[in-house]
Amino acid sequence: MFKLSTLSQAKLNTCHSDLILLINEVAKTEKCAVICGHRGKAEQEKAYNSGTSRAKWGQSKHNQMPSLAVDVVPLPLDWDNIESFEKLGNIIMEKAKELKINIKWGRDFTKLKDYPHFELV
Ligand SMILES: [Zn+2]
Repeated sequence: MFKLSTLSQAKLNTCHSDLILLINEVAKTEKCAVICGHRGKAEQEKAYNSGTSRAKWGQSKHNQMPSLAVDVVPLPLDWDNIESFEKLGNIIMEKAKELKINIKWGRDFTKLKDYPHFELV
């Protein structure tokens, strides 16, 4: 059985309990890593300035404590392999439905597709 890395688990633990439950369930069968849970002020400003996030501090669901958003990537990580992100994302959405957790996938954002991003509605 796959196990999230200690770093992934630590990041996941800054998230809402529904997201923790969901991603831990998915990680039982899917190799993945959590690259972002809660994002503090300095980190959000850095992400905004570098273009990784379009949200200013306070506008992102990552800025809540616990975080209402989580960024998850498939392993091995290959940013050009959109298919691997689609596959993992579909599994996460399926599992969320099963657990009756209402989430939105960043893939479905109209302005900027954000494949690793999942947030509570
Ligand atoms: Zn995100």
